[in-house]
Amino acid sequence: AERPPVDVAALAAGVRDGSRSLLARAITLVESNRPDHRAAAQELLLDLLPDSGGAVRVGISGVPGVGKSTFIEALGTRLTGDGHRVAVLAVDPSSTRTRGSILGDKTRMAKLAVDDNAFVRPSPSAGTLGGVARATRETIVLMEAAGYDAVLVETVGVGQSEVTVAGMVDTFLLLTIARTGDQLQGIKKGILELADVVAVNKADGSHERDAKVAARELAGALRMMTPTHESWRPPVLACSGQTGAGMDEVWAAVQEHRCTLEADGSLGRRRADQQVEWMWAMVRDQLMDRLQSSAKETLGEVEAGVRSGDLTPTLAATRLLATLGLPDPR
Ligand code: GDP
Repeated sequence: AERPPVDVAALAAGVRDGSRSLLARAITLVESNRPDHRAAAQELLLDLLPDSGGAVRVGISGVPGVGKSTFIEALGTRLTGDGHRVAVLAVDPSSTRTRGSILGDKTRMAKLAVDDNAFVRPSPSAGTLGGVARATRETIVLMEAAGYDAVLVETVGVGQSEVTVAGMVDTFLLLTIARTGDQLQGIKKGILELADVVAVNKADGSHERDAKVAARELAGALRMMTPTHESWRPPVLACSGQTGAGMDEVWAAVQEHRCTLEADGSLGRRRADQQVEWMWAMVRDQLMDRLQSSAKETLGEVEAGVRSGDLTPTLAATRLLATLGLPDPR
């Protein structure tokens, strides 16, 4: 059946006016993979791009159970209490497999979900991590155009998703918990390297002492690593999302990190680099998508040829790329 075309101008105006229902509809549009939706979404984003960029963008990562949703609920309500407008997004590629998002779920953040100054959006189930990342980046543009001045992007501390999220935020906050023995056990070095601020969570009750010891040990470990930014050393703090202890310090560290980036001009560079990296990610995704459909007929045969040694991988690659209609460069 003919579907009515998307009224991009009305959507853009609604988003700018802060209409929650039109913002939700705009997000659904950027999450869609239908070609006509993709085209309308790009038109919408182009329209709203000048109104974006105004938020503090913070990534919040940690393994399941570390207390992310409790922490974000506590942080988010503090921020809205201070007059901020808070958007919570999630990057959770596993939501594709489980057909249900474990992150950014409204039921996990009951207070924020009903807060007029907050907008909680679960992870899109757009397929691949690349697809989820694209939808999330585009949703950040929409949220900012709608006037949200703090965007919190939540992700699980497993796999590639935190690298992806670090690539779309100003400050990357890693949540962890105290562990006995080797404190670094369970935190992959690569993830620690992404962190701009580290918080040892659940520093309350009988865990408080352990959390503070863990924070000191982690700070020591971080000092051994090469800093990613010359004028910033990631601080390690202890906090409790449940009692609120140390939350102000964690948020102060996030703001201080952003001020440091602003002061030496690297915030603008970081964001510009992220836009260019996003562009290349889109080129890679679109090329692979198009290749997979253009080469559908020959894919199996060419792969079999490479496996058996009848074709060199280079010749096979040229054959596959030729299905895109690209001329052989030689
Ligand atoms: P997530 O999976 O990282 O989002 O973690 P949740 O926020 O769902 O919390 C996992 C479990 O840890 C729940 O049982 C929470 O009640 C508990 N929890 C979360 N934050 C804290 C905290 O600051 N202190 C303590 N003691 N428990 C917490």
